[in-house]
Amino acid sequence: MEILKLINLSKTYEGKVSYKVLKNINLTIREGEFVAIMGPSGSGKSTLLNVISTIDKPTSGQVILNDKQPHNLKGDHLSSFRRKELGFVFQNFNLLDTLTIGENIVLPLTLEGLPVNDMDEKLNILSKKLGIENIINKRTFEISGGQAQRAAIARGIINSPSILLADEPTGNLDSKSTDDVMNLFTKINNENKVTTLMVTHEPYTASFCNRIIFIKDGEIFREIYKNKSREEFYEEILLVLSQIGG
Ligand code: ADP
Ligand code: MG
Repeated sequence: MEILKLINLSKTYEGKVSYKVLKNINLTIREGEFVAIMGPSGSGKSTLLNVISTIDKPTSGQVILNDKQPHNLKGDHLSSFRRKELGFVFQNFNLLDTLTIGENIVLPLTLEGLPVNDMDEKLNILSKKLGIENIINKRTFEISGGQAQRAAIARGIINSPSILLADEPTGNLDSKSTDDVMNLFTKINNENKVTTLMVTHEPYTASFCNRIIFIKDGEIFREIYKNKSREEFYEEILLVLSQIGG
């Protein structure tokens, strides 16, 4: 099943000079895929993710997510769409210091008005499954970056979104934490069938994914699939990046 479809998607920033960041992007992501978007700095990766996540609007073209067109929604309908259909993971974790880690994880459910008992049950099940039950009563300053990002992933999927979106999720992590976080993304993709789309400029991080879309100057330059070991896939990624330049 197709979860996400981008049709002739373009984005132009209007300023003193107008600048076309995304040029006629056509792309389909199917249910259960684990996809990375790569490309040089400034190639439009974050813009693409922001347009998909409805943070930003396309100049032309369509985003179809789970058979809906979120950019046609307004106000409460749009907020509700985001809470139900989307999960987000950010480079800087974006956990609130004033809440416990557990409270952070269930925040999307709190906003939906779910009863406390139901939230506690979901939190218990998910935190055990993800191996983070030891940190749910802690606060942000008591945990490592890797633990914070694993909590952020839990928050990203607690509402069972149609797609999990992540922008540079390992950008602030050391290599050990990068392994922990990417192993967790892999696990939830394999076991929970969470469709995941991430932006990364790190070849090692991308090598965990099953498909990579390379963009250059706002256009899709190439796509590759992992029908090989992660080590061989990593080498292939380096090769494509050397062809892109930038
Ligand atoms: P990437 O994530 O691949 O590094 P971005 O999508 O952040 O690239 O940015 C692509 C290009 O669009 C860059 O040249 C950037 O300067 C420009 N850009 C990004 N956001 C804006 C904005 N809000 N207004 C004008 N230009 C922008
Ligand atoms: Mg970016």
